[in-house]
Amino acid sequence: MDSLYGMSPAELALACAFRAPFRSRQVHSWLARGATSFDEMTDLPLLERERLKALIPRIASSEPATEFEDPDGSLKLQLRLTDGAAVECVMLEDIEGRKTACLSSQVGCPMACAFCKTGTLGYLRDLSAGEIMEQFHFLSARRGPASNVVFMGMGEPCSNLGAVRKAISILSGTVGISLRKITISTSGLVPGILELAEKGPPVRLAVSLTSANEELRSRLMPVNRSWGLAALKDALTRYQVTTGERVTLECAIMGGVNSSPASARELVDWIGGLQVQVNVIPWNKVPGLPFVEPTREELEAYMAVLDSAGVVASRRMRRGRGVMGACGQLGETLLVPRKVE
Ligand code: SF4
Repeated sequence: MDSLYGMSPAELALACAFRAPFRSRQVHSWLARGATSFDEMTDLPLLERERLKALIPRIASSEPATEFEDPDGSLKLQLRLTDGAAVECVMLEDIEGRKTACLSSQVGCPMACAFCKTGTLGYLRDLSAGEIMEQFHFLSARRGPASNVVFMGMGEPCSNLGAVRKAISILSGTVGISLRKITISTSGLVPGILELAEKGPPVRLAVSLTSANEELRSRLMPVNRSWGLAALKDALTRYQVTTGERVTLECAIMGGVNSSPASARELVDWIGGLQVQVNVIPWNKVPGLPFVEPTREELEAYMAVLDSAGVVASRRMRRGRGVMGACGQLGETLLVPRKVE
């Protein structure tokens, strides 16, 4: 059974053996607000609360194992799942105090991007909608409600779209976060992009491009060997025609690898007529990975090429690095990484 936090009212009715349909809507509403026990659900009769406590002794399926506080205000949580696996999530806070919950969709990740710590862990399993929602609630309970949600944590959300979609329907429904403030970030899984174009949900789409050089991207991101740059561009073109939405391209820049003005020009050429915004992300150091952070001069030269070509680009603020909670670092501090080849 999935955690109650990932259930629709109809599923709650079954799990909780409700006779009256409005009871499941009441419980659904409490869970969306992050209630952690049936005792908090004060509009349920006392006898009903006691019955539910006896039927379902524990509401959440996962539990926070470790908390890491970054001096920049970010909070990283490690959650222990019922099967002993572990997953991480982060609450990031910008200088205006806006909170963004960065959620994981899988334990580990099958995509094996060379510059990402999570990619070195291998893939264990998909997370359920309830396990995704619990990350959101654990973070919000400690830092106040998040206004934005990004699926940029551990895992490839487009290879677990069923659970991600279900979590998004709760986040955008009962929890009340606008779909415009929810982002799915994919490594470029073409079938997932096409499915999002056809079936939604109409959230924001970000694609980790990193390089517009076929050979280099295939080395850095194995997904490119199955869905190369031409297939990815076709999918994004179709996505834009269908949804009318601009896509964010994320480029993690590693010193001396994809940081040159020539790399930036390849990116400009590849973008062509796509309506995009480029997010330039200075690579965040991960011990053991064979990369270095880009220098300020490299970043400025890269940005200058995009700027002179009229490409809308911004440089990602570095948050959560002090707790290995920034982009590409999740999994570094996991207590028991579980590797599956
Ligand atoms: S960058 Fe994203 S898709 Fe690539 S290995 Fe890391 S978590 Fe997976």
